[in-house]
Amino acid sequence: MIVYDLACDQQHKFEGWFSSQDDFDKQVSNGQLSCPTCGSTTISKQLSAPYLNTLPDQNASSKTKQKEMALAGVNLQQLHNQFIEYIAKNTEDVGPQFPDEARKIYYGESDNRSIRGEASVEVMQELKDEGIEVYALPPGPTPPDKLN
Ligand SMILES: [Zn+2]
Repeated sequence: MIVYDLACDQQHKFEGWFSSQDDFDKQVSNGQLSCPTCGSTTISKQLSAPYLNTLPDQNASSKTKQKEMALAGVNLQQLHNQFIEYIAKNTEDVGPQFPDEARKIYYGESDNRSIRGEASVEVMQELKDEGIEVYALPPGPTPPDKLN
């Protein structure tokens, strides 16, 4: 997942969440992306680098990233809520089966999809050691199941 700082041709600035650079390009070329302020579909990406992604080292550097976001004036609570909402809408809740299911997906025994669930810090580390991309949700309210 990537967050881009975007701006329309009227210089309204806003954030967009995308699964990839391709996803962003597709939404722009299809005119699916519009400015929340004026509705313009002439959207350009700002120069700042994406600051949130699912790289395995995310947790290690999350404190630094939070600092950068705070300095940039980003509303962390809002960002957090968007993140939780995104996770709730785009993942399947497998609960305590998470480690098993994550391995099955990684080794091709289960359908490739995004899942969320419960796992201890130790188990998360084991999964990472196996090369499986996992990351911990930031602390806060759990995703509302009704969004699922
Ligand atoms: Zn605008």
